[in-house]
Amino acid sequence: MNIKSDVVVVGGGVHGCSVALHLQRRGFKTCVIEKDYAGRHASGVNAGGVRTLGRHVAELPLAIKAKELWRDMENFIGDDCGFRPVGQVRIAETDAELDLLRKRSSQVAALGLPHAETVIGAEEVRDLLPEVSPACIGGLFVSGDGYANPFRTTNAMKHRAAELGANFTEGVEIVSVERSNSVWVLEARDGTSFEAPVLVNCAGAWGDRVAAIAGDQVPLSANGSMMMITSRIPALIGPVVGAAGRALSLKQFENGTVLIGGGHRAPVNRDKNETTLDVSKLAEAASTVVELFPVFRQVQVVRFWSGIEGFTPDKLPVIGASCNAPDCFHAFGFSAHGFQLGPIVGQVVADLIENGRTDLPIEAFSPYRFQHRVAA
Ligand SMILES: Cc1cc2nc3c(=O)[nH]c(=O)nc-3n(C[C@H](O)[C@H](O)[C@H](O)COP(=O)(O)OP(=O)(O)OC[C@H]3O[C@@H](n4cnc5c(N)ncnc54)[C@H](O)[C@@H]3O)c2cc1C
Repeated sequence: MNIKSDVVVVGGGVHGCSVALHLQRRGFKTCVIEKDYAGRHASGVNAGGVRTLGRHVAELPLAIKAKELWRDMENFIGDDCGFRPVGQVRIAETDAELDLLRKRSSQVAALGLPHAETVIGAEEVRDLLPEVSPACIGGLFVSGDGYANPFRTTNAMKHRAAELGANFTEGVEIVSVERSNSVWVLEARDGTSFEAPVLVNCAGAWGDRVAAIAGDQVPLSANGSMMMITSRIPALIGPVVGAAGRALSLKQFENGTVLIGGGHRAPVNRDKNETTLDVSKLAEAASTVVELFPVFRQVQVVRFWSGIEGFTPDKLPVIGASCNAPDCFHAFGFSAHGFQLGPIVGQVVADLIENGRTDLPIEAFSPYRFQHRVAA
């Protein structure tokens, strides 16, 4: 079987689905190839944090645009994706931590972007989080941030793109890519082939492999962020909570369950789609929650999991045209904070394909930054 399209996308995560969605809206016939199923990896199992708070300043313009799209998801794709703009807060336990948060707030204000990270005092933190430990002396708050349902989001984008005419071929792994007569020819393990003049690499933690085929060497390490979720408890946590001095991410869903993360990572095997949970690190995450919210001492954790994610050395994604191959674009390596950017990355890639440029600043994400490193 040979499937032809205008643009072929490798990877059916949130970014591949977003690229397909934006391209179909602009009239490009798009084909997305996914080796497992859409949302099987990081995009479907992540913590669902929709966060501008504390982002690298290079990512803020994209994250702010993405935030506008999150607010409009229902109109945009016909599903609100479970987005709840409950706000996000980063709490401080020491003067030094609070000082860092103040500096961050001033740094962000100086950028002149339509985005504020507001320092709040102990009392305001306690208004937001009545159960927080008395050790908490203040925090940094962003309104309009929040959380969404990751699997639902990825699939809502997929279904809307498919309604607009995108082809999704799942359970098919691309094993070779060649360019012949200005057309990309992709061969799958099962013998299916795909042809398109334009190739987009949204292969997530496997993105370096697809990039290498195009001649772009991108150093990517794969890791598995670990999550755990509690049984249902009464409403205790309003905004999404992080901490300035500790690895913590905490959010309570409307059904009462509380999701605990915080960047504790497990080793992964990319060839086998496997992660090995590290129970000692999970216990550390649980202890942090109990120290900061003593009421959690009585709460039961019911499930742990991890997802495979690709990390670049500078923890910034790779978004942009290939350094070496024509009509090839990358969007991968989101380093554990790419879900929030999902709705906007498709727009950026569609701009690059349609117009050869985008109005959003993406220089910091160029794959050239690693080529220079190799050359130096
Ligand atoms: C546990 C966890 C918690 C996280 N929490 C947050 C959070 O709260 N907020 C946030 O913003 N971000 C978060 N992230 C990060 C976020 O999930 C990712 O950055 C984002 O989902 C990456 O999307 P993607 O489409 O690039 O990758 P993926 O979702 O991994 O999709 C890439 C797809 O490409 C497919 N693929 C690869 N190679 C091939 C091939 N050769 N042929 C066919 N298909 C191929 C893979 O099977 C995969 O499905 C978290 C990540 C994890 C793991």
